[in-house]
Amino acid sequence: MNTTIDIQIKQTSQSKLQGTDFENLSFGQVMSDHMFVADYKNGEWQDFRVEPYAPLSLNPANATLHYGQSVFEGLKAYKDGNNNVLIFRPDANQRRLNESADRLCIPQIPEDVFMEGLRKLLEVDREWIPNKPGCSLYIRPFIFATDDYLGIRPSATYKFMIFTCPVGHYYAKPVSVKVETKYTRAAEGGTGQAKAAGNYAGSLYPAQIAQKQGYDQLLWTDGKSHQNIEESGTMNVMFIINGSLITAPTSKGTILKGITRDSVLTLAKEKGLKVDERFLTVSELKEALENNTLQEAFGTGTAATIAHIYKINVGDKDYDLPEKPADSFSYQVLETLDAIKYGRQEDKHGWITKV
Ligand code: PMP
Repeated sequence: MNTTIDIQIKQTSQSKLQGTDFENLSFGQVMSDHMFVADYKNGEWQDFRVEPYAPLSLNPANATLHYGQSVFEGLKAYKDGNNNVLIFRPDANQRRLNESADRLCIPQIPEDVFMEGLRKLLEVDREWIPNKPGCSLYIRPFIFATDDYLGIRPSATYKFMIFTCPVGHYYAKPVSVKVETKYTRAAEGGTGQAKAAGNYAGSLYPAQIAQKQGYDQLLWTDGKSHQNIEESGTMNVMFIINGSLITAPTSKGTILKGITRDSVLTLAKEKGLKVDERFLTVSELKEALENNTLQEAFGTGTAATIAHIYKINVGDKDYDLPEKPADSFSYQVLETLDAIKYGRQEDKHGWITKV
């Protein structure tokens, strides 16, 4: 593809590549050498560049620090057996970033700026993409307000940046979850559907309480009745009960429209599994746990792809889920998604962008 925007490249003179232990990668700790940056001023995105990853200098009055006018994305790149770089559904992340931006009064990123910026960055930092099974390069695009002004109004200036970090398996272990019926992640009319920084800040406290009680994640319920199950931690959540896959609908604007969610639902329908996009209620979940009709429960998200759930706390009771046979849907779909992401299976959905 021809580059449609002019991107300046300034390479680092101090690469961290040699000093990075690719055998022991943990999530989000080591950043690759470069970052892509664009500035929004005078009503347009400009000054596109790839430069060494480095700290930013911010004025204490920076609007993002005070009012959180900031949105982000998360996606991954993989290497196939021939060392080709494959990015999974970046077009979907680009669209979702702009939907989030609209909700926060942030100017949209043109598609070519997002895609060409990402391509250029991955070309420059190609060696940072691990080529071991289960490993990948996590990509973090984000936009934030840069006005130095203490009044509350949309900023007139912004930065769009992309940086990356090599990662190993994330959440490789199955997780335990607790149904949260006091706190809420998102309310109707709020910002739940946007990948807005503030949503994550608000979720820390209830998640911390659950962790102190010994659970890995929360099962979020709706803000009004706390009866409808929405998401799990920072993943969408799916249940298989009596052979049907049930997952919350995204129509109320309280749930992030997960790209893994969409991919899993597409594959589930192709496999002939019945898909029911509706809210599972807490009482239905409890009943399914008590009469052993809950066959599978799992989270879906970019970081883990599939996070198997082995224990669910409802009210004052812990329920252990049955051991899943190796041919369970969640194992199969994880294998299929991995095969597509690592280029071992034909990409018939057009989900892969080759760099
Ligand atoms: N819900 C929330 C709140 C999230 O932060 C994420 C992670 N982006 C997801 C769901 C899963 O989305 P995706 O599959 O696009 O990573």
